[in-house]
Amino acid sequence: MHDVVIVGAGPVGLFLACELGLAGCSVLVLEREPDSRSPFKGRLLGMRGLSAASAEAFHRRGMLHQLRTASGVHDDPGADAEAHEPTALRGVGHFAGIRLDPDRVDVAALPYHLPGQARDGMPTYLEVVERVLAEQASRLGVEIRRGVTVSALTQHEESAVAHAGEHAYAARWVVGCDGGRSAVRGLAGFAFVGTEPQFTGYSMQATATDAEKLGSGINLTPTGMYLQMVAGHIAMVDFDGGAFDRSQQLTRDHLQAVLRRVSGTDVTLSEVRLASSFTDRAMQTTTYRRGRVLLAGDAAHIHSPLGGQGLNTGIGDAMNLGWKLAATVHGQAPDGLLDTYTRERHPIGAKVLDWSRAQVAIMRPDPHCQAIQGVMRDLIGTRDGATYMAERLSGVSIRYDLGSEHPLVGRSAPDLCLEDGTRLSDLMRDGRGVALDFSTDRCLRDAAKGWESRMRYAAGPAENDLGLGAVLVRPDGVVAWAGERTPEREAFEQAAVQWFGDPDS
Ligand SMILES: Cc1cc2nc3c(=O)[nH]c(=O)nc-3n(C[C@H](O)[C@H](O)[C@H](O)COP(=O)(O)OP(=O)(O)OC[C@H]3O[C@@H](n4cnc5c(N)ncnc54)[C@H](O)[C@@H]3O)c2cc1C
Repeated sequence: MHDVVIVGAGPVGLFLACELGLAGCSVLVLEREPDSRSPFKGRLLGMRGLSAASAEAFHRRGMLHQLRTASGVHDDPGADAEAHEPTALRGVGHFAGIRLDPDRVDVAALPYHLPGQARDGMPTYLEVVERVLAEQASRLGVEIRRGVTVSALTQHEESAVAHAGEHAYAARWVVGCDGGRSAVRGLAGFAFVGTEPQFTGYSMQATATDAEKLGSGINLTPTGMYLQMVAGHIAMVDFDGGAFDRSQQLTRDHLQAVLRRVSGTDVTLSEVRLASSFTDRAMQTTTYRRGRVLLAGDAAHIHSPLGGQGLNTGIGDAMNLGWKLAATVHGQAPDGLLDTYTRERHPIGAKVLDWSRAQVAIMRPDPHCQAIQGVMRDLIGTRDGATYMAERLSGVSIRYDLGSEHPLVGRSAPDLCLEDGTRLSDLMRDGRGVALDFSTDRCLRDAAKGWESRMRYAAGPAENDLGLGAVLVRPDGVVAWAGERTPEREAFEQAAVQWFGDPDS
């Protein structure tokens, strides 16, 4: 019997496996595909944009450098990363194909988005993300069993069992990270609700004999959208009501007809090497937990890839769930901790679905929607509009309601840096919480000893303490409590009990 069986070795399942492995749980990952490699995960079709929030998650666990190198990202943040005040953002993305100008973003309005190695997002590939995570998972003792398709599930008082053919895999908890067509979701009886699609999208590796007829970059047209960010990779959106049937073959003729319609050209595709389709169906489960079964990533929420948020949301789920489930497994979780997973992550998922719907709404090829698109373009061109967009796209705006009015509580902690050069991210590698005490008399030192096994304590003046005396950071990097110049020990202890349980005896 394992502590946790994870169904699906996609990026979310693997990230969660790493979090649980780091926390000392025994973890078995069951994956349907016998081979981790697939042309759909490599250059070009597997290209994915990681948000700053996701890059930060990798950085906190010491995997960002490897991920950047393997992704071919060499624009090191360099001197910027050493700054202690907000500096200009880089490459923050688009909304419905409308590009955001990073120079318009008011960085002073994002005081908690301090520079650091993971301040900006980055491009990567699914195969790279999965490889980096699978290597880390195996270093942490996680077992990944491939060629195993889970097709049945049973729940008992003390365990849950995933079945694949003749084999049964028992665990105290089962987590479905098995993607948008999740078997676990249906088998465990989760309700999945939302909206039906308006379009079919296509992503293809193809050659056009007269490629000069197509525009480069993102092209919004009166009939949809197509984009060519890299030569040989074309993506397009066709407002057909999501009518294309995925069981149909994606032929060159079909793809060419759609591309001609969407681009308004008579372009000719001479070769299609690889193609896939998707829709903007937007659905979410009503809860992320039923008994001993939990969901994360696309298994819990699906939406169009517009604006690239699915993977980032899934990584956020895994980071949020990992330490809570581990504490529950170890019998250290305070009452109700595991249920805060749904409470915190469900509203985030719902917002992402709406973000995707909003983009679809202004891309629709009718005069009313196109008119709103013009208004949005104007707004995104303003300083406030660009700042709002940057906050949403980078993940900086994510804030859980933890019942505190302090603006930092519930947000991902900035990469605070002590004057001796120690950064918060350095202290988060082992997956424990962190108490950072900037007070001159180290007033939380004795209090923090009570949670030594679950929380690291570091003290000293900070390069930029944001006007705070101390912060308590959860293992997922979220600020649980922020203390004023002279932090109150009692308030700190209350927060520590709330998130980490009773102190060590
Ligand atoms: C064209 C396109 C572009 C995108 N671009 C971006 C982007 O730029 N940024 C972004 O954040 N997101 C993007 N996304 C979304 C992103 O790819 C997904 O949200 C992400 O891959 C979901 O990860 P996951 O681990 O939840 O699921 P998946 O990646 O689907 O992994 C699920 C795994 O479970 C396995 N599995 C399924 N069923 C079973 C079973 N019964 N038993 C055992 N194993 C099973 C599968 O084989 C798979 O390995 C894009 C999506 C598309 C289609």
